[in-house]
Amino acid sequence: MKPLLGGKGANLAEMANLGIPVPPGFTVTTEVCTEYQLYGKEKVMKLLRPEVLEGVQHIEQIMGTVFGSVENPCLISVRSGARVSMPGMMDTVLNIGLNEKAVEGLAKKSGKEKFAWDSYRRFVQMYGDVVMRVNNFLNSDENPFELIMDEVKEKNGITTDQEFTVEDLKEIVKRFKAMIKEVTGNDFPDDPWTQLWEGVMAVFESWNIPRAVLYRQLNSIPEEWGTAVNVQAMVYGNMGDTSCSGVAFTRNAATGENKFNGEFLIDAQGEDVVAGVRTPLQITQKGSKEWAKFAGIDDKERKTKFPSLEEYMPVAYKELFSYQHLLEQHYKDMQDLEFTIQEGKLWMLQTRNGKRTGDAMVKIGIDMYNEGLIDENSALLRMDANKLNELLHPVFDQKAIKKANVIAKGLAASPGASTGQICFFSEEAKEWKEKGKDVLLVRIETSADDLQGMDSSDGILTARGGMTSHAAVVARGMGKCCVSGVGALHISYKKRQLEIDGKIYKEGDWLSINGSTGEVYEGKIDTVSPKLSDDFQEVMKMADHHASLKVRTNADTPDSARIAREFGAVGIGLCRTEHMFFEGVRIKAMREMIVADTEEGRRKALEKLLPMQRSDFEGIFKAMHDLPVTIRLLDPPLHEFVPNDEKHQEDLAVEMGIDVDTLKDKIAKLHELNPMLGHRGCRLGNTYPEITEMQARAIMEAALNLKDKGIRAIPEIMIPLVGETAELKMQEDIVRAEIERVFAERKQRMNYRVGTMIEVPRAALVADKIAGYAEFFSFGTNDLTQMTYGYSRDDAGKFLDIYLEKGILKDNPFETIDQEGVGKLVKMGVKLGRKARPGIKLGICGEHGGDPRSVHFCHRAGLDYVSCSPFRVPIARLAAAQASIQEWLDHHHTNRQN
Ligand code: ADP
Ligand code: MG
Ligand code: MG
Repeated sequence: MKPLLGGKGANLAEMANLGIPVPPGFTVTTEVCTEYQLYGKEKVMKLLRPEVLEGVQHIEQIMGTVFGSVENPCLISVRSGARVSMPGMMDTVLNIGLNEKAVEGLAKKSGKEKFAWDSYRRFVQMYGDVVMRVNNFLNSDENPFELIMDEVKEKNGITTDQEFTVEDLKEIVKRFKAMIKEVTGNDFPDDPWTQLWEGVMAVFESWNIPRAVLYRQLNSIPEEWGTAVNVQAMVYGNMGDTSCSGVAFTRNAATGENKFNGEFLIDAQGEDVVAGVRTPLQITQKGSKEWAKFAGIDDKERKTKFPSLEEYMPVAYKELFSYQHLLEQHYKDMQDLEFTIQEGKLWMLQTRNGKRTGDAMVKIGIDMYNEGLIDENSALLRMDANKLNELLHPVFDQKAIKKANVIAKGLAASPGASTGQICFFSEEAKEWKEKGKDVLLVRIETSADDLQGMDSSDGILTARGGMTSHAAVVARGMGKCCVSGVGALHISYKKRQLEIDGKIYKEGDWLSINGSTGEVYEGKIDTVSPKLSDDFQEVMKMADHHASLKVRTNADTPDSARIAREFGAVGIGLCRTEHMFFEGVRIKAMREMIVADTEEGRRKALEKLLPMQRSDFEGIFKAMHDLPVTIRLLDPPLHEFVPNDEKHQEDLAVEMGIDVDTLKDKIAKLHELNPMLGHRGCRLGNTYPEITEMQARAIMEAALNLKDKGIRAIPEIMIPLVGETAELKMQEDIVRAEIERVFAERKQRMNYRVGTMIEVPRAALVADKIAGYAEFFSFGTNDLTQMTYGYSRDDAGKFLDIYLEKGILKDNPFETIDQEGVGKLVKMGVKLGRKARPGIKLGICGEHGGDPRSVHFCHRAGLDYVSCSPFRVPIARLAAAQASIQEWLDHHHTNRQN
């Protein structure tokens, strides 16, 4: 029903069917909203008129009131409600049907003049705001309605809305109307039917207000869905102290605890609770006691001044408690409820599946499974894999964050929370760290030179760069918190300071960043490390039970390998070797190799690198013992290893004992116009076979060294950037020949595999031929996306956002795999590869490996594994399970239909 009635409408109908008291009403479907967008107001009104008349009559009959009557007025609310909840995005108008005469009628009938005028005041305010859009005419942040109310309060020396007298309310209404007329040029309508129709149309209109459009973009909600409109009889929480309005959750939305909880306000209509005009009271006695303890209020005072609903209206509370139970059992999920009590009588106004934190998601899922409310399939399927993120990284202390001040926002590049002192230079980051400081590395952007600094930092903040920028990718790999692309951040390396919004922050000042939201905070905010709950482990166990797709990790240090293994990775799918060449002496030897003129010179430098590489591999193999480790041979263009500024070049020349100009000349020769399409990947190894030889030797010697110690390494050697079969063949020959030499020297052998990346589109097209030489494929979907689209990963920032905004692209193809295009190449690669070599091992190792949607795709494409950064391993495991379950359900469903 939700597509037609919207979430709110469908659930209201369902509650009514369950026998729960819901004010009578009807729903104008989402289809009408679409028609409204197409044909406009007049046409839609004409079409709708008879049914709306009928609907209103239905309400009148049940309520015993008359819409438009002066003596016995029927008041109505008009409520938006899309297919999926878009909280607070669209509009609602309460108390429709009031005017100068009806308000008197309402007062007389109820015997409560103040209630009548309070309702009228609310109506004029909401209608002026939502339907007549007063704020569109004003150019100010101030709410003109609040201004008027504040003036009246001040004049009478009162502070709260509740203290208004009838006279005050009358004055406020009068001033509201005058203000609306002055601002909009239009009279406030007195005719109830005009009010109703305009209200309905305003809700349709609110589908297109900017904040709603933005919300849909951010949450991938289709434009064409439209909103439904719920027209419903009013019930009144503002009829004095036997009335109230509230919201409640069937379980704790932050922790997942199975505790009914919520808040309410006496003598108020619903919007007050959310708006926070008064401090709300707790619904349960237990919750109330906890609240009082936290607020430092003793129990006696609590009972008299701040009673719980349980104590204040025990009968209505009992009823509410039974409905919350019923609704949770019915929907089999945690519910978020809205209710109103009118003179002691409870009415339910809304129920929906409640939003929750990652922690609560896991706990509620497992608890409901244990309670027998849901089965394993639904427990797993309903979890949002991405939300597991929240459970894995350090988090800000809940109390501290409440007081913190957000100063800028960037991309949530690598999750977690981090607080540290601003440091602009990588070398210094290392020194600071050694001194025991908390370091926040702040750079315009990062490059390979910053690896050490990033490693020494607690968090990384950059002014430029997207989700696949160097900073973002490396930070995710390191499991470090990172916020990238903060446009408002202006850095002066020279002055050693940064500026945000006119405010200067100096080196050493404290900032805090939240890599899960992209928020940047001023000052130091305490972090706490998360505890992985038993429930989390339970979810992972369940997931592995269902998943057929395996999850490996991208890791190139023993540390990150260990973390990934703890998170359940069953191997390394991508171990990049270039990062190993950046530290201290290594970079020197690497540079020697690069500037050498002859093969002999290169070999000499490589000899120095060999033992370092070997010990790196030993560390990684050891951390991943008994599990496969895919090592990619050197991939990036060589110029990334040499300094590009003059000063460093001069230093280097001195250090290497060569002439500055010769060195500069060499470096200039390395320069390429399109380095990503240049001399890199297997093209390096095929032009300088000695590099490949050194790496193959280091891998195998490391593996054999461990074997001697009784530790089992499972090496898989991966050739990058292959497009032409012969490119792979030549590399394979070099690798195997070198390994045979190692075997001969050591007089022992062991198993290993040689395979390739499929990341050049041509490789996917001729995958059958490639499979003749490759024992495995790993789809490198970062490069494959770059080359399939022809979008440079490093430059795409300039147009990708605009493309996304304009709808040319639906998703960023570097974040979630482009199933239509890139996906077609992957599928083709899979098919051709398996045809030529049955049993070939297939995986992917791009950033996509940790993206749930891409994981689903990989499952359907028939891959054996995905590989992703350590902290995304649990996410991928859950997504893999969901993909299996979904496939099973789809299959089951089709079979039943046939
Ligand atoms: P939202 O989608 O923003 O939550 P709602 O349509 O639920 O908006 O309306 C907001 C609040 O207005 C509700 O929580 C409820 O308290 C109040 N409200 C809506 N309709 C009625 C009604 N018919 N009678 C009494 N209160 C209502
Ligand atoms: Mg609501
Ligand atoms: Mg690549």
